[in-house]
Amino acid sequence: MSLFDKNISEEKLRSLELAEESREQEWKYPSFALKLFHGVVDSRLIDPFPAQSAEDKKIGDDFLRKLEALLRAELDPDEVDRTGQIPKKLTDELGKLGAFAIKIPKEYGGLGFSQVNYNRAIHLVASYCGSTAVLLSAHQSIGVPQPLKLFGTEEQKKKYLPMFGQGVISAFALTEPEAGSDPRSMSTTATPTEDGKHFLINGEKLWCTNGLIAGVIVVMAVTPPKVVNGKERKQITAFIVETNAPGFEIVHRCKFMGLQGIQNGLIRFNNLKVPKENIILGEGEGLKLALMTLNTGRLTIPAASTGISKWCLKVAREWSAQRVQWGAAIGEHESIALKLGYMASHTFAMDAISWLTASMADDKKKDIRIEAAIAKYFCTVHTWNIVDETLQIRGGQGYEQASSLKARGMKDYPVERVLRDVRINLIIEGTTEIMHLFIAREALDPHLSRVKALMDPRVSIGKKIKSLVNAGLHYLLWYPKMWMPVWGSGAFSSGPLQQGHASYVRRASRRLGRVVFHQMIKYQKKLESKQSVLNRIVDIGSDLFVMAAVCSYAQHLQKGGSEKENSVDLADLFCREARKRIEKNFKSTNSNNDKKKIRVSKKLLAGEFAWLESDIIK
Ligand SMILES: Cc1cc2nc3c(=O)[nH]c(=O)nc-3n(C[C@H](O)[C@H](O)[C@H](O)COP(=O)(O)OP(=O)(O)OC[C@H]3O[C@@H](n4cnc5c(N)ncnc54)[C@H](O)[C@@H]3O)c2cc1C
Repeated sequence: MSLFDKNISEEKLRSLELAEESREQEWKYPSFALKLFHGVVDSRLIDPFPAQSAEDKKIGDDFLRKLEALLRAELDPDEVDRTGQIPKKLTDELGKLGAFAIKIPKEYGGLGFSQVNYNRAIHLVASYCGSTAVLLSAHQSIGVPQPLKLFGTEEQKKKYLPMFGQGVISAFALTEPEAGSDPRSMSTTATPTEDGKHFLINGEKLWCTNGLIAGVIVVMAVTPPKVVNGKERKQITAFIVETNAPGFEIVHRCKFMGLQGIQNGLIRFNNLKVPKENIILGEGEGLKLALMTLNTGRLTIPAASTGISKWCLKVAREWSAQRVQWGAAIGEHESIALKLGYMASHTFAMDAISWLTASMADDKKKDIRIEAAIAKYFCTVHTWNIVDETLQIRGGQGYEQASSLKARGMKDYPVERVLRDVRINLIIEGTTEIMHLFIAREALDPHLSRVKALMDPRVSIGKKIKSLVNAGLHYLLWYPKMWMPVWGSGAFSSGPLQQGHASYVRRASRRLGRVVFHQMIKYQKKLESKQSVLNRIVDIGSDLFVMAAVCSYAQHLQKGGSEKENSVDLADLFCREARKRIEKNFKSTNSNNDKKKIRVSKKLLAGEFAWLESDIIK
């Protein structure tokens, strides 16, 4: 669906308008991934690979040592899974360590760490206990610290940030029973009091992680509408809500497939009074705040996923070497060896993009909205595959609970718990499907902003002609470039193996630029709703971005002259695998079964295949 498509319903149009108004309109800084979708590989943005400075690394190393010692001493993840409780002693000690104020500047009582060191901490915790990693990251990747750091007033920062250094926990409340991926369906209201000094919040928020133990929560609520171009526009505003205020109610603690230790539930606001000073960013800016908070907040999930994948790699390696079946260690059977190759190469790729994107966030001179979304999408999908493959490699013992394994004297790898814990990452902080739409919208932006005026019925003929001329001139110069041959690999790779892959990235980027352009001409206004087409474009761009990151990372590791020199093998395998996927996606752009699938889906939804659901217990 598109804003300019006359056939879409009024409701869909309103949701799209709200999403459109809430997105960051400008590209203040360059984005490597954005350029990649338009045929340009700007290697200066990723090469040389941004190494952590020795000073910053030491700060991180010291903290990680203490954190690991604390986790080993006070946390049994299987006990958390069984009891549904993260021990109070652990959260108290984490508070004393500053683990709830990792990124908060020192002047506000935090540790003042870089994004890289924060991500290293979450990577470590996630490799051990999913529930504890989510407790820490929901609090400071999306909870009160992050939006306050980005948009808070000095008064708000002084009032709230110091409490996190003392161990207070926060949460982020956007989702409601009827508002999941589409925030316009939100019905929690914030009504100004007569004197205009306060707002009264009423409504319910669902699945609010940490919501049951938080001291403060960022709450998105609907404030009175504004009239824009003669039409009423829904306003969503972000408030800092203190949970000890009268009117705050915990209705229900939710239980899930995994992450048994998280304190997540349904919370209710009954005329909860908040001063207007507690609005962050401004009235009506709540959704923009949520989206911009997530641009950096989203980087924690890739780091956590990488930690989990590395743990899986260790389990799979040990078990594949140890377990003997049919006269050989299972790792020597080709089916298992193929899995191990996939796991190692893709874990390496996750390592590359996790640290690249975290460093980009620290650098603050690059736009990372697409990169962060790709990192989230890529790492969560492959981590899910990797955990699944680890379970398969462990065979029956993969399916057995760790406590049961331990009771009969076996090695108690908790793979089934990890599988249950990790699945949610494909849903939270933007589902995989929404990540595709988000990446596609941002990637198409340079084209859309050029033709926006042409497609908008509200724009005058004069302005349309001017836009047409400007767009025509641009495409006259740009399009032939997309057909020009590419020589060499560009700057981001000098090793012989990477060179071939890096030059492939440059060629494929131009091809992608052409494909995007051709699809725009083919579908015009309808391209924004052609998710089947957009998904492939996004998948190609994502794999190309990861390939570039992988080449640059391997290059960087080789310079170190250490045991990591053989990272080139991992980089080479990853790139070969990615190239196969990319070629398949290019091919499927024109030859696929999409129409047939959609036709079957329509019939299914209409109940025409109800007969297939026979002989089951309904
Ligand atoms: C354990 C857990 C922790 C959470 N923590 C928080 C939290 O701390 N704070 C918070 O605010 N929320 C939180 N959430 C909510 C989470 O962010 C939502 O579940 C998520 O946004 C998806 O919303 P939904 O589940 O209602 O799915 P829906 O939006 O109903 O989507 C259902 C399916 O349809 C797909 N879909 C929806 N729209 C489209 C579209 N336009 N095109 C294609 N596909 C589409 C989705 O991708 C999904 O596959 C949490 C949820 C869970 C389960």
